[in-house]
Amino acid sequence: MNHKVLIVDDDPAILRLLASYVDAAGFDVLQATNGRDALHIVLAEAPPIVITDWMMPETDGLQLCRTLRHHEGVRFVYLIMLTVYNEAERITEAFEAGADDFLTKPIQRSELSARLRVAEHIARLEEDLSRRTREIHRLNAEMAVTAEKLAAANDKLRQLVTTDELTGLLNRREAMNRLQQLWGLRDRYGHDFSCIMLDLDGFKRFNDTYGHAAGDLVLREAGKVFQGKVRQSDVVCRIGGEEFLILCQAVGAAEAAVCAEHVRAAVEAHDFQWEGQRLKVTVSLGVAQCSREMKSTDDILRAADRAMYASKAAGRNCVPIAEARPAVAQV
Ligand SMILES: [Mg+2]
Repeated sequence: MNHKVLIVDDDPAILRLLASYVDAAGFDVLQATNGRDALHIVLAEAPPIVITDWMMPETDGLQLCRTLRHHEGVRFVYLIMLTVYNEAERITEAFEAGADDFLTKPIQRSELSARLRVAEHIARLEEDLSRRTREIHRLNAEMAVTAEKLAAANDKLRQLVTTDELTGLLNRREAMNRLQQLWGLRDRYGHDFSCIMLDLDGFKRFNDTYGHAAGDLVLREAGKVFQGKVRQSDVVCRIGGEEFLILCQAVGAAEAAVCAEHVRAAVEAHDFQWEGQRLKVTVSLGVAQCSREMKSTDDILRAADRAMYASKAAGRNCVPIAEARPAVAQV
């Protein structure tokens, strides 16, 4: 596509001559006979190149240059000033007003043509630059949207990876991570912690009697009951079918046992509503405190598990505390 060139001169004869030269050089010609009309044409047609006479009534070439340079609606214009002056002082004045180039009268066709090529080259560079800038802005906006979607997807993924779908509690994998963190804190700072292992009593029989949907309801609701009874710093996790683990940071076995007893009593008192029936469920719990003799997180899990089975053996629905035992050497 040809570039548009606006020529501005108050002399119709010069305007005609310029128009024929500019047209012959392969540009689309726009014309104005004064500065005011020239500005309107620039705003409406956005020609990238303007050739303007210096001496004109009302708005002269210098004023037109300044106006075009400061007008908010004018993006890019390559300005060539026509002048009868060729003294350095006057030429400097034109450049200071915002002209990019100048042509002295009488106009030489070859010189005009050469200067138009330069103008066209600059106009193309400018178009290219502004296209790239627009593209960068577009890509930046796209990237911002993508980053937002990615962050949301990552949050969702993190939740899926760490959460038990049925109860919304932390899952086994995350439970083991948190346990490892507590272990690390104890190693480094000597912070105590305890675990409560917890199992719904007779859950298999319960499932067989009422069906899995009722079983799922009990698991979900029991999870809520547990959470309602622990401290804010305690973490409730579902680590197996009907097996739960509560991690109690910064407490010994006696305090954890108080918490476990609250949980036990709350479950015993809770009515699980299923299809108009009031179902009762109990839990067996085992408490263990991390001790110096333990070599790894497996040891405290085993201790809590043993205590929990002691609860089952003692008739369920109770809270035994694991005895501190010397560690058995691992082979
Ligand atoms: Mg004139």
